Amino acid sequence: MSTGNLPYAALITRLSLEEKVHLLTGETAFTLPGNDTIGLAPLAFSDGPTGVRGLKFMGGDAVALFPNATLISGSWDDSVAEEVGLMLSEEAHRQSIHVVLGPTINLHRSPLGGRLFEAYSEDPYLTGRTASAYVRGMQGNGTAACLKHLVANESETLRNFMDSRVSETALREVYLLPFEMAVEDAGAWSMMAAYNDINGVSATEQDHVQNGIVKGEWGWDGLIMSDWFATKRTVESANGGLDLVMPGPAGPWGERLVAAVRRGEVAETTIDDHLARLLLLADRTGGLRRDAAETADGGTADGGESPFRSGMPAPGSELRKEQLRRIAARGMVVAKNDGGALPLAGGPETAGPVALIGRHAVATQDMGGGSAQVNPPYQSTVAEGLTERLGERVTVVDGVDVRRRPIAASAAFVTDPATGESGMRVTYLAADGREIASRHENGTAITVGWDDDFAESPTAVVFTAVLSNDAGRVRLGGIGAGSWTISTNAGTTAAGAEGTPALSAELGFSGFDPGEAVLRPPAFAEVVTLPAGVTVTARLDLNPVDWRAVLDAHPAVKVADESHLLTMAGFGAVAFVAEPAGRTDDEAIDASVAAARAAGTAVVVVGLTEEDETEASDKATLALPGLQNELVRRVAAAAECTVVVVNAATPVLMPWIDDVDAVLIAGLPGQEGGHAIAAALTGEAEPTGRLVTSYPAADGAAPAWNVTPGEDLGLEYSDGTAIGYRGYHAGTAPAPLFWLGHGLGYGSWEYGAARLIEATNTAAGAAPVLEVEVTNTSPRPSRETVQVYFAPAEAEQPVRLAGYAGVDVAPGETATVRVACDARLFRRWDEAAAAWAPLAGGELVVARGLGDVKARVSL
Ligand code: BGC
Repeated sequence: MSTGNLPYAALITRLSLEEKVHLLTGETAFTLPGNDTIGLAPLAFSDGPTGVRGLKFMGGDAVALFPNATLISGSWDDSVAEEVGLMLSEEAHRQSIHVVLGPTINLHRSPLGGRLFEAYSEDPYLTGRTASAYVRGMQGNGTAACLKHLVANESETLRNFMDSRVSETALREVYLLPFEMAVEDAGAWSMMAAYNDINGVSATEQDHVQNGIVKGEWGWDGLIMSDWFATKRTVESANGGLDLVMPGPAGPWGERLVAAVRRGEVAETTIDDHLARLLLLADRTGGLRRDAAETADGGTADGGESPFRSGMPAPGSELRKEQLRRIAARGMVVAKNDGGALPLAGGPETAGPVALIGRHAVATQDMGGGSAQVNPPYQSTVAEGLTERLGERVTVVDGVDVRRRPIAASAAFVTDPATGESGMRVTYLAADGREIASRHENGTAITVGWDDDFAESPTAVVFTAVLSNDAGRVRLGGIGAGSWTISTNAGTTAAGAEGTPALSAELGFSGFDPGEAVLRPPAFAEVVTLPAGVTVTARLDLNPVDWRAVLDAHPAVKVADESHLLTMAGFGAVAFVAEPAGRTDDEAIDASVAAARAAGTAVVVVGLTEEDETEASDKATLALPGLQNELVRRVAAAAECTVVVVNAATPVLMPWIDDVDAVLIAGLPGQEGGHAIAAALTGEAEPTGRLVTSYPAADGAAPAWNVTPGEDLGLEYSDGTAIGYRGYHAGTAPAPLFWLGHGLGYGSWEYGAARLIEATNTAAGAAPVLEVEVTNTSPRPSRETVQVYFAPAEAEQPVRLAGYAGVDVAPGETATVRVACDARLFRRWDEAAAAWAPLAGGELVVARGLGDVKARVSL
């Protein structure tokens, strides 16, 4: 391709090779370089996908925290995802962000995947539809979406080096389908290439996927950026279809790529194509000046004026509260509801006394861990939400411990001695002891060595805080690699006298992934007894990770000298640990049992934390952490009615399921989470969600389980196209506890016979349309989601979700629901012919999850 045929050719020819290449690597952690000659503004990117965090990885300004991905897809309603996309775009306008790094559209393959909470479903069609609506809402308001992570990135263990071994059929039919849908149906403007390899080739070098399929077969004109630090080689990535290396300013392109072009290893037209895609992205998001674009090609960007609109709702505004609460409650799933236990005693007016129990009731988990984390204006707890609704009828009892690791001090427990504000003082020191900076921090973990704004890297960090405990047992410690010394101004501490170090620890980094250094650094804590009002000083002499040594320690890992990983010389995240040590688990269980017995009705909120549902590591079990199962069993034995709220986005085991009356799966519900859960429990809002993932009955009892690559770093996707419910249905795993699509809401439904109406013809081919009558037999208005699955005649072809539609129905009324199936589910990839082939015969199954079939129609 010659530059002359490219869009923006006249702009591109104004630049030297060096200038062009310079534009193809980030300038900072989340911004790109601009260029005045061609009117290119420095584009700003922000994570995604559950809030627009801004230009910092941790901390930063307060921004709206949205319900997590499974609560959005859990509505099975395009209008919800579209509204979320629009709201995120408004958050982006408020912060002058051009590109939001979401949606995450990898699939829930193994339930152990740490990052599933960011992704929509185990089903590619539900994922693709949700993503398309989200992208339409966002891009319709002028903000670019970024589909991530291309592709086969379903687990985190050794994510930078593992090789997803997946058949071409599964790749096309399952893992690429959401990307294909969001391109065809919503015209997504950018994508992110994943960390992992696919069939032996790094995602950032995937000529087959990036050039062959996405840009070639799909004719897509968008931009592919690398995941952060994911680019491993210069020539292979530039030729393999990657357009932009992130973050910057260091990285494997720059001078190395210029030299490769000069040597003839990368064609300059390839560089021009990458740049043309970047300029198109800028043009689409208002980052290319109209005068510059017009001189060149008649582009459409706004002339010189900011493309960002003012007057956007504040993150904590009443409007946002209403939206975030409504959307969170909509996506929650009533998994069990015996004897009408929910809504609580028929509603807020009639509910009797309730014992509200559990650590997640008082410390509700509103988000997962990693790059999807944001700094919200506030978070709400179930205790706040239910007390606001039921007042003194609620007795709140904190539950058993749910943590596996020490956590950063909460701002509520510490005070900055310099300012008296809640939070702590953090002082950064240079090697010669000089103070680089001294700041107030609000208590969350902070990153050092990357994404900070120091000209010079600190070698030590000192935290100082006054503890607001009323004296007694306190857990003190540190998070971050290096040497820790912690002292207090108290007369006596657990291990020393005044002024002398009370605690110390040498913490080494034991992980394998730069993400782990930020998201899962080493930690220690000890319980000490301290008097009230004590000032604690915790000093960490940092121990930077030597990535070359870490990577060389794994024989299968081959790291090129230019690998972007090696430039990540950052120290990772560090934090000061200080929290009241509280009562023992036995005491908590005894208090819970007593409260449950006294109230008669118990609501136990259990769940995971951001240690389990996080980027950069996977789970080892689906069991709830700590003694939470024991807590539920003991409470259920004491209470007349027990409702369990599961505050987690992904499957957990429920060994007590037969002992309890109701289960509400509440996801990670965002800043309004506590109110949304309370509204769902009391029936003020109906939780009409349907599961987006099947819940296994036991550890290991899933079609795909293992997430640990072998010695050669390979992870076999041997489940092929039969992931999730498709595999359970085919009998590759014991029946699940709950199927994808299951969800009771508060209505009750009768289905009529289903009938085929016609076949629609779309660009993707023909697909059936089906109609069915549903009657709301309950005394309340409710919403039903009619799900249509296609079971092909060919025995080896798995059943698959092929269409769905929701309907709101008044009590006693009947509605006719029309479901247009999607043609892309009625085809198979023919590997021999390297082409799609139609799947015609078989049957359509109408079901409320495949465990509850309502009707069948032969094709
Ligand atoms: C994640 C991406 C994210 C990026 C920037 C990476 O660790 O995998 O999803 O967008 O960081 O924060």
